[in-house]
Amino acid sequence: MKSGFVGLIGRPNVGKSTLINNIIGTKIAIISNKPQTTRNIIQGIYNDEDSQIVFVDTPGIHKPNHKLGQYLNKQAYYSIDDVDVIMMLTDVSEPLGAGDKYVIEKLKEVNKPVILILNKIDKILREKILTKIVEYKDLYNFSEIIPISALTSINVDDVIKTCKKYLPESVKFFDDDTITNKSNKFLISEMIREKIFLLTEEEVPHSTSCYIEKIEKSKNSLNIIATIVVDRESLKRIIIGKQGAMIKKIGTMARYDIEQLLKKKVYLDLHVRTIEKWRDKEKYLSEFGYNEFE
Ligand code: GDP
Ligand code: MG
Repeated sequence: MKSGFVGLIGRPNVGKSTLINNIIGTKIAIISNKPQTTRNIIQGIYNDEDSQIVFVDTPGIHKPNHKLGQYLNKQAYYSIDDVDVIMMLTDVSEPLGAGDKYVIEKLKEVNKPVILILNKIDKILREKILTKIVEYKDLYNFSEIIPISALTSINVDDVIKTCKKYLPESVKFFDDDTITNKSNKFLISEMIREKIFLLTEEEVPHSTSCYIEKIEKSKNSLNIIATIVVDRESLKRIIIGKQGAMIKKIGTMARYDIEQLLKKKVYLDLHVRTIEKWRDKEKYLSEFGYNEFE
């Protein structure tokens, strides 16, 4: 299973949203809309039999006034550091401008695959495409350059194929069910993950996922049981923190956001487990006295 995060960058109007909508299509639609949280960053999640690609916005890179690393790490939910692959979009019907060059300069500080998408090829003559490729090639050593039209679906399949090529082998970060028909679950798990991003050091969130095990509704409140799944014991200790201080902080902040979102009182029961412990769901559930996962 190939699974991971693709950070989208590019100036306004180059076609980022159009491309994501095209890729996500009817397969799954989630543009997570989180008015109460600091940022609205996940753009879409693509799922198929052997992959899950999470497309995220990486706003920090567009901002010329900040020291890159610092800014991205603390201010943006997903930063260049958090993604596996970077996808830069440009509009080939426009001349290569200062904005593109600025972004490309920034990319030089980044040590991960960068895929250049030359969008809107339907607007230019075929012969021009090659000239464009050469122009960009001279500026940066892109891992791949793909000319596409997000609007008329030319080469969009190629974008997916190429992303997969550069993504790591990994378990899915979100289960299919969560994103297809249970968007509240999805949003709740995102809010918890966001707090992990905010409160822990950078290597922690990469190896972390969050699953909503159960939501129990009562008249005015919700009982939510969630598990933060980590891939090793040492991360578990970090997330729990000294005498549980970190997990408590994550829980308090997440609960606040969830309450704002769902307009209900929330009891959030957060657990941390290594993936080995968590995999045996039945056994895990019985720890809580449940024998059925929602
Ligand atoms: P974003 O700001 O990067 O998210 O750009 P949008 O996806 O909102 O697109 C900006 C405009 O460009 C919209 O009017 C789109 O219809 C148009 N657009 C996007 N992709 C293409 C394309 O491949 N060809 C053409 N002709 N127009 C496109
Ligand atoms: Mg857009």
